[in-house]
Amino acid sequence: MSTYLIKDAGILGGDAQDVLIRDGLIAAIGTDLSAEHAVVLEAAGQILLPGLVDLHTHLREPGREDAETVATGANAAALGGFTAVHAMANTDPVADTAGTVEQVWRLGQESGRCDVHPVGAVTVGLEGKRLAELGAMADSAARVRVFSDDGKCVDDAVIMRRALEYVKAFDGVVAQHAQEPRLTEGAQMNEGTVSGELGLRGWPAVAEESIIARDVLLTAHVGSRLHVCHVSTAGSVEILRWAKSKGWHVTAEVTPHHLLLTDELVRSYDPVYKVNPPLRTAADVAALREALADGTIDAVATDHAPHPGEDKDCEWAVAAMGMLGLETALAIVQQTMVDTGLMDWSAVADRMSTRPAAIGRLEQHGRPVAVGEPANLVLVDPSARRTVEPSELASRSRNTPYAGLELPGRVVATFLRGVPTVIDGKLA
Ligand SMILES: [Zn+2]
Repeated sequence: MSTYLIKDAGILGGDAQDVLIRDGLIAAIGTDLSAEHAVVLEAAGQILLPGLVDLHTHLREPGREDAETVATGANAAALGGFTAVHAMANTDPVADTAGTVEQVWRLGQESGRCDVHPVGAVTVGLEGKRLAELGAMADSAARVRVFSDDGKCVDDAVIMRRALEYVKAFDGVVAQHAQEPRLTEGAQMNEGTVSGELGLRGWPAVAEESIIARDVLLTAHVGSRLHVCHVSTAGSVEILRWAKSKGWHVTAEVTPHHLLLTDELVRSYDPVYKVNPPLRTAADVAALREALADGTIDAVATDHAPHPGEDKDCEWAVAAMGMLGLETALAIVQQTMVDTGLMDWSAVADRMSTRPAAIGRLEQHGRPVAVGEPANLVLVDPSARRTVEPSELASRSRNTPYAGLELPGRVVATFLRGVPTVIDGKLA
């Protein structure tokens, strides 16, 4: 295993330091470090963060390998600065057994690019009727701790209560896709001024907020852990703030796209902007940014949702919902949160590494950048700029909403346990 010496990097955006990586660990931190036979990375002006951790990706394998595979998704993750991602359970077959989650876990390890932690389904087949084998998935080689029917809401209150009770046995968490199904039947976009003008069926904020309100109360009642996926409305933020003020074990994530894009984009009828939950209003975006900055929202999670062209290059009404996210997440966070002065880089490390790793109970990720820690690291050049070119993405799909946009920042290098997965901005 090679030794790497990163020279003059700002750790978490602080003063320039040298960092020596040896045998998979951070071996030394200081100034004017040297090491024989080390590969030297000159990193003046660059920022060193703990490897990013994503609580919410869709890697589509097994079942939709035409959209993404664990291997291509892990490549996209590494290029985005991630060293660990959670892969959602809505595959085909659904990840609702020990066998399927172990398969996904193994594929991630074989990729060598990124640790892939499978999320287990809450209910058999995501059908919302019977609990899946939560204990068997927790005890499997994949050591599942996050359970979600994402894509669908666990809308039955009794099933949700049972799931919250069950996961306590192994310190798991239920990650809810908060979408009241009856209030969103046939919904195509955010319910509001724009949906009224376009004549598209609206998706009201209350469909999200009513489920979150119910679930924080259920979680408090049974003394369990709830994580709320992709929060998208100002009202959801208020409920979370209240639940946290009570000391309940509730955490939440926001996607990069909900920090930047609004429902005004739907006027183009370009299905690249069709996503679940839908793009909301500028007031919602402002509330989400504020909540991420003050910690009410714990984490940024990509909801990376690859779709092949035939599912996106079609009319709005029939297009699939979802956007790519892994390769652009850090740039969007820099643009919306750092370059606006709302957060510094240590807060970025907290929301994109430390806290998501803690929520997922990952022991080797989200660690401090300190001597003796595993060398899961990402080196970022915040002054670089790049224009997003879909054909250059490592993902197998092309449905990025940022095509042609110039975004700030560049992932220069990513290290997974001391081994570079990305060097000079390219797959190592
Ligand atoms: Zn979802």
